[in-house]
Amino acid sequence: MEKKPFVTKEQLEHIVQDFPTPFHLYDERGIRENARKVKQAFSWNPGFKEYFAVKATPNPFLLKILHEEGCGCDCSSMAELVLSEACGITGTEVMFSSNMTPEEEYRKAMEMGAIINLDDFTHIEFLEKTCGLPETICCRFNPGGVFRMSNGIMDNPGDSKYGFTREQLFEGMRILKEKGVKHFGLHAFLASNTVSNEYYPELAAILFRLGVELVKELGIDLTFINLSGGVGIPYHPEEEPNDILVIGEGVRRVYEEILTPAGLGHVALYTEMGRFMTGPYDGLVTRVLHQKHIYKEYIGCDACAADLMRPAMYGAYHHITVMGKENAPCDHMYDVAGSLCENNDKFAVDRMLPEIEIGDLLFIHDAGAHGYSMGYNYNGKPRHAEILFREDGSAKMIRRAETLKDLFATFDFCDILKGAEIPE
Ligand SMILES: *Cc1c(COP(=O)(O)O)cnc(C)c1O
Repeated sequence: MEKKPFVTKEQLEHIVQDFPTPFHLYDERGIRENARKVKQAFSWNPGFKEYFAVKATPNPFLLKILHEEGCGCDCSSMAELVLSEACGITGTEVMFSSNMTPEEEYRKAMEMGAIINLDDFTHIEFLEKTCGLPETICCRFNPGGVFRMSNGIMDNPGDSKYGFTREQLFEGMRILKEKGVKHFGLHAFLASNTVSNEYYPELAAILFRLGVELVKELGIDLTFINLSGGVGIPYHPEEEPNDILVIGEGVRRVYEEILTPAGLGHVALYTEMGRFMTGPYDGLVTRVLHQKHIYKEYIGCDACAADLMRPAMYGAYHHITVMGKENAPCDHMYDVAGSLCENNDKFAVDRMLPEIEIGDLLFIHDAGAHGYSMGYNYNGKPRHAEILFREDGSAKMIRRAETLKDLFATFDFCDILKGAEIPE
């Protein structure tokens, strides 16, 4: 599918008059429309709720927009809990899916009345000692081995640090019930960025069967099943996007096959999608500063891996549009690089693009999840602003750019930088 930015060159030229490049530009309309579609896809399940995975895009303005569309928050750290609470998202609208969890984070989550999703058998005792056990608790399952789907997608739960083994799950829920826990949830995350309508239905079938067994063997009250995240987006234009309505129907099919006949037709479904909720609805906007001709042709731009690390970290593909040259032939091969002293700081390698000139604006697609949030400050590069492109066509800053003062703030306990001249 052809990838088009959600703004035109003219709109973008307008925005850069108020906000200097580079910046992340989020598409409010896209985020809202997608969230509504997710809700619609699972509307057959009365208890359905999406808990947005905050780590994907931890911006309070975006959390509020998603909350207005009915989403809660999936948190896994103190910062994410605090951010959710500050947005008025608390209580059972918060899922706390943490791992290797520090005491104070459990305490905070319990104070907020969040649903605790236990990652490990030993955390039963840990949580009981720290805070006491809640009435409702979720346990994360790890089936081990290799997770293979009929269409070839696979991942390696056996190598992942998360969750309970099957035996631990039965034993753990038995103990939790004995200790007075009244309601149970079941969770698993088996594969990441799945561009396939079959992932959720296949995962659901595994969890539904397991849920039926747990109820039969332990007599627990299973109130929800949490399909977690992992629903992917087509970073590459040649990939076929997921259709969330088809996914919702696929999950309904296995629900009616497995849960309903077992007398579990009341079980609520939860999801914790991150990437699917915001990934496609943000472009990293950057201006071309340099062209360099050595053994290869380089384009130097004013963004760098500090703003979007996925290409540097995973060699991930992010599509690039040269604004205003959408219809020009892609007959030039470039490496598009940032300014870090790190050779993997490249947004694209050997990419065929239209002829680029200094001053061109580049729109780096699909930067809206695990984008800004994964950024870092290597080379002392401050991270840039986040801007919201609103439904009425206006632009609003939703996070200012970091300054050098922010970067040096952790030296505020000493005098060395007191008199230093620090540019804004
Ligand atoms: C990261 C994460 C998610 C979201 O994953 P996506 O791939 O962005 O959908 C959901 N749940 C948990 C526990 C996670 O760690």
